Amino acid sequence: MNLDFPPAHAEPSQTAAAFHHRIVEALANPTLQAALDRNAERRLVGRNAAFAALPHAKEVRDQGRAIRLDVLQHLDTYLEQFAANVEARGGRVHWAADAAEARAIVLDLVRQSVARRPAGASGPAIIAKGKSMVSEEIHLNHAFEAAGMRPVETDLGEFIVQLRGETPAHIITPAVHLRREEVSELFHQRFGMEPTLDVEAMTAQARTQLRRVFFSADVGITGVNFGVASTGTMALVTNEGNGRLCSTAPRTHIALMGLERLVPTPADLELMLRLLPRSATAQPLTSYLSLISGPRRAGEPDGPEEFHLVLVDNGRTQMLGSELAEALMCIRCGACLNVCPVFAEIGGHAYGSPYSGPIGAVVSAGLFGSDYNQLANASSLCGACRDVCPVRIDIPLMLLAVRGRHVAAGQPPAWLKLGLAGWAFAMAGRKRYALAQRAAALGTRLLGGGRWLKRLPPPLNAWTRRRDFPPFAAQSFRARWAAKQKQKRGGPA
Ligand code: SF4
Repeated sequence: MNLDFPPAHAEPSQTAAAFHHRIVEALANPTLQAALDRNAERRLVGRNAAFAALPHAKEVRDQGRAIRLDVLQHLDTYLEQFAANVEARGGRVHWAADAAEARAIVLDLVRQSVARRPAGASGPAIIAKGKSMVSEEIHLNHAFEAAGMRPVETDLGEFIVQLRGETPAHIITPAVHLRREEVSELFHQRFGMEPTLDVEAMTAQARTQLRRVFFSADVGITGVNFGVASTGTMALVTNEGNGRLCSTAPRTHIALMGLERLVPTPADLELMLRLLPRSATAQPLTSYLSLISGPRRAGEPDGPEEFHLVLVDNGRTQMLGSELAEALMCIRCGACLNVCPVFAEIGGHAYGSPYSGPIGAVVSAGLFGSDYNQLANASSLCGACRDVCPVRIDIPLMLLAVRGRHVAAGQPPAWLKLGLAGWAFAMAGRKRYALAQRAAALGTRLLGGGRWLKRLPPPLNAWTRRRDFPPFAAQSFRARWAAKQKQKRGGPA
């Protein structure tokens, strides 16, 4: 396969105008809208059926929450235990404080692996990549490209978005924004495949292409779904089997893991594995579960010569001490994205962050800083994300906290700050409130003659671009009540 891919997308801008522009584009994209509607329907029905069939589902979710809380409360102890056990099994543990350090460690390991190539092997370093949100978070593909290396995404959805020069649109289903027609067209252009809507045929085409990558790669990179502290085992959950090919076929396996993705014991892992596939893809069991414990040992038929684990902080320890700490309990199942009415309309790319949807808005603000605070405004605060979350993370509470940060940082536009200050002033006294009501009623009467308003002046026209605005009542409730009472007593209304 030709390993020239379109360059990985640059980090999207996080200005309010850029965010607004991405939202408007998403809403106007009929292909995206059709794909998102189908995703929301299919995923939710499946997820609900999967949990309905899980015995004692409520208790299992409670236990899952307790396990993740315990990990956060004793993260230092579990991390030490986990790292010591990984090393004891022959793996090497690297600690990365931030994205730059993580990238540097990985690039260095790839160069070392290339230096150990069999005699006669040449060409750029080839990296077979399994699904890893941490690698998206640290923009690893950019770094590989800049260093002249060739990363190839081997998860089918990730492979498709890489061929398009895009980033994943969902943490579980990266190509959720596409229909099979777009994939068919892509494979036709890229591989000369006859146009087809047969998903199996397209999957077989991708498999043929990727097989060559697995067996020519210098390095395999994967994420880690859960690390087991008491044993040093890493659990990898996939549906395509690509993860285990990345972790076994190349000479070197590098696993990227966020500091928080731990469970204390194998029994805790078993419980989490009852929750994750049900919540993510409505499966009682995942198709492939790999339990990785170090490099190939003497006498073993397969496995990498070297195994490296890169433990990435990149803002997590800072988050741990903040009001956003609970977001670190996330097991990246994606259910809160599927249930979110805002995500269902705008999709993942509109957020401009590797982490999208309700939990993405919180995690992005926590990990990447205040530029991402505005993402929390893309929420109706309906609470569906909290209800669906397998470990019951209180996402709405944290969305409010991020909005609070946004306001405290002075990030809202001046007109909004002024408006809110005026509103707070009016609400602080009964007379002022009554006066404000009369002024609002007069204002909307002047603008619309008492009918629903089709257009408001800027900046309030953002509302009337998509819906009408009701006029304020000509009389307040108090005034009407007083008039009614007077009428009852026999006086003129
Ligand atoms: S917050 Fe909960 S529902 Fe959302 S991805 Fe994380 S674990 Fe899944």
